[in-house]
Amino acid sequence: MAERKENERVEQRRDLLAWFDLQQRDLPWRRSRDPYRVWVSEIMLQQTRVETARPYFERFIRAFPSVEDLASAEVEAVLSQWSGLGYYQRARRLHAAARQIVAGSARFPASVEEWLQLPGVGPYTAAAIASIVLGVPEPAIDGNVMRVVGRLLALEEDPRKTSGHRAIQSEARHLLDLQRPGDSNQALMEIGATICLPRRPRCSLCPLEPGCGAAAAGDPELYPVAGRRPPVSRHFRQVAVVESRGRVLLFRRPGNSPRMAGLWEFPWMDGRARGKLESALGQRYGGRWKIGSTRGRVRHSVTNRSFQIEVFEASSSFESEVAEGPEAGWFSSSDLTGLPVTGLVGKVLKLLED
Ligand code: SF4
Repeated sequence: MAERKENERVEQRRDLLAWFDLQQRDLPWRRSRDPYRVWVSEIMLQQTRVETARPYFERFIRAFPSVEDLASAEVEAVLSQWSGLGYYQRARRLHAAARQIVAGSARFPASVEEWLQLPGVGPYTAAAIASIVLGVPEPAIDGNVMRVVGRLLALEEDPRKTSGHRAIQSEARHLLDLQRPGDSNQALMEIGATICLPRRPRCSLCPLEPGCGAAAAGDPELYPVAGRRPPVSRHFRQVAVVESRGRVLLFRRPGNSPRMAGLWEFPWMDGRARGKLESALGQRYGGRWKIGSTRGRVRHSVTNRSFQIEVFEASSSFESEVAEGPEAGWFSSSDLTGLPVTGLVGKVLKLLED
């Protein structure tokens, strides 16, 4: 029985790599095993899809071709290259880690444990990088891999709970080819991203189909048994656009802001009581505000919060009192190219152009 299982796994490992060799997407960070490029890509891919991250990766590497270039850059310049990708703490931590590497021995970590010492690198990222760059046989388990392996096992328990996670980790370890653990990990990630989709998995294209418990059970979508996700909360926000001579007025989030610190954004207030907008903006940013007609609505999501945002034309005057703290500036569209701005700025500007 144990021998049969092991033979099955040998076949799975072989089929997985054969499939990866033929079907893997050509991605810029896969063209070498350079630790710097692999590390930057793995940080970008945290909470971000491959197709979204790809142009940012290329731009980032052009701006900072080496860890030394990244370490010597100002954080402002790093945030600017990250602008629009979201989850800006990732960029700050990447920058801090680059400085840590350069200030230390100026060499990249040489084990999973050493990677884990860097800011922004958790168990998944450390395992992914170490397996790809160093050939360390450590399974890298993100949400996609959890789903693929959970389905292979036809897992009846929540993979985010301890025993479910252990089962997945153990099976993912068995699927690693000891000569090419980085490719085995990437193959599982690739299957999760392109074939074993949350809805309507494409089992007929999957190299793991012959041994897959969920496919054999007939309804793979039912596996693994999902844990409860935090509900998405819905919010309303109002944004004021002040335009003058082809430039828009933006404010900068303070450096100690818990979210998106240091990024530029349109002035805003939460809620949808339009009558309160002028006084709320005056309190937050100083000056006197006049709100004009609406320019439309946009939707914007941040982690599990979904915002419906109404965009208003506005004018403001800072002749009277100006609030202490927020930094303000006027920017034309060309100025915005190199500026670290929130993702919402791009959506609002697009609405204004339409
Ligand atoms: S056979 Fe289907 S359910 Fe099983 S791993 Fe492949 S795509 Fe997912």
